[in-house]
Amino acid sequence: MTETIQGSRGSASAGDDGAKMYEKVVADFLRVAERCNIEERVISRMSRPRERIELSFFPSLASGQVHDGRAYIVYHNRALGPSKGGVRMSAEVTMDEVSALAMKMTWKTSLIGVPFGGGKSAIVCDPDGVSAQDKEVIIRAFTRAALRHIGPENYVLAPDMGTNEVDMGHIRDCISYSMGDSITRGCYVTGKPVLLGGIPGRRDATGKGVVVTIRRAAERLGFSLRGARAVVQGFGNVGSVAALELAARGAKVIAVADKHGAIFREDGLDVRAMADHVAHGGKVPEFPGGEPMEGAEIFSLDCEILVPAAASAQITGKNADKIKAKLIAEGANGPTTAEADSILREKKSFVIPDILCNAGGVFVSYLEYTQETQRDQMTIEEVESRLEKRMIACFDAVYERSGTEEPDMRTAALELAITRVAEAVRSHGFLP
Ligand code: NAD
Repeated sequence: MTETIQGSRGSASAGDDGAKMYEKVVADFLRVAERCNIEERVISRMSRPRERIELSFFPSLASGQVHDGRAYIVYHNRALGPSKGGVRMSAEVTMDEVSALAMKMTWKTSLIGVPFGGGKSAIVCDPDGVSAQDKEVIIRAFTRAALRHIGPENYVLAPDMGTNEVDMGHIRDCISYSMGDSITRGCYVTGKPVLLGGIPGRRDATGKGVVVTIRRAAERLGFSLRGARAVVQGFGNVGSVAALELAARGAKVIAVADKHGAIFREDGLDVRAMADHVAHGGKVPEFPGGEPMEGAEIFSLDCEILVPAAASAQITGKNADKIKAKLIAEGANGPTTAEADSILREKKSFVIPDILCNAGGVFVSYLEYTQETQRDQMTIEEVESRLEKRMIACFDAVYERSGTEEPDMRTAALELAITRVAEAVRSHGFLP
């Protein structure tokens, strides 16, 4: 008889954080909807997810044990097009957190101007607690369970925290195999390997987009990136690319944290060497080119730029008043709690909100979607030039709408995004 092992269900505090994050996203929406005079019948269509799905699946792992798998899919709003949003893999993730992230995707796709609605999914599992072979089994089991909920006109997946290009390739393969085809009919998943229909530059798109917005903000705030001190939390897809790009533009990346701890070097870390160290399985605090420190200490370091590019709810009421950075670029989704947000607003810290700052990933995912639909092939030069232009245009639109006192950048970004979705809801009409 095979032994059944339990998939991780998340801790009580993770549940609280997810619920708080969802409350904040809904409260931000209601506050902005009122500022924009959006009528009640439109608000009610935008304030709740359209659908929340919970999946259970039980694949056999290499050891012969059965994995007790659980996953969530949330579609928030589809007024502008099919739901788009990454699939996260985390032991702590909850349905509330996925609902918050799906709502944020509705605003993000609207703000960056791509014809998608918001969605998100999550597999409840610690990606570092399973072997690569077992991760593939779990990803494929999730895909089979989710198959009737995903598709080019329905919900299009992408990588997110804990998942990557390799996993997207396995999802793509599982779908075409299940349908008995060599390719999928249209785009079910973005962020795939280029040889499987992916687009050059997708992996780096989010991190590079983050740095486009930082460059633009630094110009507005009147300081140069050359010599500016930057601190980056998270050294995965988004954080590592943002750190490399900042270093390439002359900034000094003085501290980096991952979930194991942090590393510090006053005259700047060798980020390229650190990326190699991590690519070979190393942990950030064990990188030999700096002094290890507690992960939480990075927030109080003297610096010009802070890039939270890890998990949600990292800048909180406990550390927001210690932050010295003039510029906070939200590479992560929802890194700032409601309490921290008010503290940062009072301190007049310049925050590039997540729905703007990290929208480069979904913009290039849209290019991948159109490329796959048309069986086209785009070059890295085309992709990077379109990404840069779109991020600049979007940053400038939000900056122009924001004022010295009000609205702040987060409110301005939400106003632009929410009025566009509201207009699409009205254009659909109210009868069906
Ligand atoms: P990833 O899994 O590639 O990397 C996550 C990194 O964060 C790792 O270095 C991990 O060790 C670190 N981390 C996790 N928890 C931490 C903690 N509590 N303290 C310090 N470090 C911690 O994930 P990613 O794809 O880089 O995503 C990071 C964030 O960016 C997430 O919020 C995600 O939703 C957001 N995001 C990602 C994309 C994308 O294209 N991948 C797009 C938009 C937004």
